[in-house]
Amino acid sequence: MKLFMPTKVYSEKNCVENHSRELAALGTKALVVTGKHSSRINGSLEDVTKALERENIPYMVYDEIEENPSVETVMKAASLGITEGTDFVIGVGGGSPMDASKAIALMIANPEHDERLLYTRTQVSPDGPVYPALPVAEIPTTAGTGSEVTPYAILTKNVLPDIVLTTIPEADVQAAFSHLEKKTKQSISHSVFPALALVDVSYLQTASRSGCINTAVDTLAHLIESHLNANSTEYSRIYSEMGLRTWARIKDKLLRYEIGEEERQALMRACTLGGMAIAHTGTSLPHGLSYPVTCEMGLPHGKAVGIFLPGFIRNYGNQEEAMKVLSLLDFGGEQTFSEYIRQLLGEVSIAEDLWERTMDELLANPAKLKNYPFMIDKEKLQRFR
Ligand code: NAP
Ligand code: FE
Repeated sequence: MKLFMPTKVYSEKNCVENHSRELAALGTKALVVTGKHSSRINGSLEDVTKALERENIPYMVYDEIEENPSVETVMKAASLGITEGTDFVIGVGGGSPMDASKAIALMIANPEHDERLLYTRTQVSPDGPVYPALPVAEIPTTAGTGSEVTPYAILTKNVLPDIVLTTIPEADVQAAFSHLEKKTKQSISHSVFPALALVDVSYLQTASRSGCINTAVDTLAHLIESHLNANSTEYSRIYSEMGLRTWARIKDKLLRYEIGEEERQALMRACTLGGMAIAHTGTSLPHGLSYPVTCEMGLPHGKAVGIFLPGFIRNYGNQEEAMKVLSLLDFGGEQTFSEYIRQLLGEVSIAEDLWERTMDELLANPAKLKNYPFMIDKEKLQRFR
C-alpha cells in the first residue's frame, strides 16, 4: 500500500498573501497561466501578481486558457515561457488553467521536444525516460477538479480515426486528412504533481449557480469513482470517505442553492479531498464516458460526468460497497440518489449515435477500463445512461 501526496497544501483565507515567500521560492521568473476573465473578477490573479511583486519575482501572464484546454493553447503558452526564460509556472483558475499549467511546465522544461511529448508514454520500463517539468503552483478558483493536488492534466486534442492512422504513412497523414480529425480529451502521459497548492475559498464567491453545481458534482464523482475503484486502498479511502461525508453535509443546500460561506468551505474541502483520492486511484467509468459528451455536446465537465453516476452506482459489481457509498452520502438508496442527480442537473438526453460511439470508444480503450474492478461489456454499459 502506498501513500504519495507530494503537494504542499495550504487551505485558508488570504493564502496567497500569507505564503508568498514559498510561492516565490519555486523559481526566479514565473509564468502565470489563467483563463480569460474570471481570475480578474474573483481577485485571485491580483493576489498572485501582488505576491510576486512583493517578493521581487518577475512574471509573465498568459491569460488565454480556454475551457477544456487544447494542446495548441498549451504549446502557445509554453513557447512564451521558453522565450521569456520562465522557470516556474503558476496555474490560477479552475481545472482548465490548472491542468494547462502542468502541461506547460512539462513543455518548457523540455524545449527540444514538440507537442508529441505530451502523449509519449513514459516509464513503460523501469529504465524508461522520465521527463522533468518545471515546478508548478496551483491556485484553484472552482471547487470541482482537485487538480491542485493531482498529477493529471487533461487536454483536448485532435485525433484521426484509426482507419487513417493504420493505413496511411504517418508523414502523409496530417496534411491530407486533417479534415477528418475530431476532438477528444485525454490526460497527458506524464505525472506532474504541483509543488504547492494555495487554496482560498474566497475565490468561489463569484461562481454562478450552474458553475457551482457542476463543479460540486465533479467533486462528487471523484469521491465516488475513487472509493469504488480497483486501485483504492485504506489510505485512499481515508480521503474519499472524509470527502463523501463532507459532501453529504451540503447536498440538500446545494439542491436548494442555499450556498453561503460555510457551504463553500465544505465544497472546497471535499474538492481537495477528492483530488487527493483520485491522485491515488484515478477515476473510473463515468469520467471515461464523459469526454465524448463534453467534446460533442459541449456539456460542462462536471455535468457530463454526473449524468453517469446513478448508472455507475446502480450497476456496480459489488452492490454492498456501492450502498456503503450512498450511506456515507446520506442517501437512503439508489433511487433517491438518481432522483437527486436528476433534480440537480436536469434531464440530459444523449443522441443514440453519440451514445453508441461513446460506449465503443470506452470499451476499445483498456486504459479507461482498468480502474473498474469488474468485467464490463456493452450490454452492461448500456444501463449507465
Ligand atoms: P474551468 O473549465 O476551469 O472553468 C469553467 C468556467 O468557470 C470558465 O468560464 C471560467 O472562467 C469560470 N470560472 C473559474 N473560476 C471561477 C470563479 N471563481 N467564479 C466565476 N467563474 C469562474 O472549470 P473546472 O470545472 O474547474 O475545470 C474543468 C476542467 O478540469 C476540464 O478540462 C476537466 O477535464 C479538468 N479536470 C481535471 C482533473 C484533474 O485531476 N486534473 C480532474 C477533473 C477535471 P475563465 O475561463 O474566465 O477563467
Ligand atoms: Fe473530473
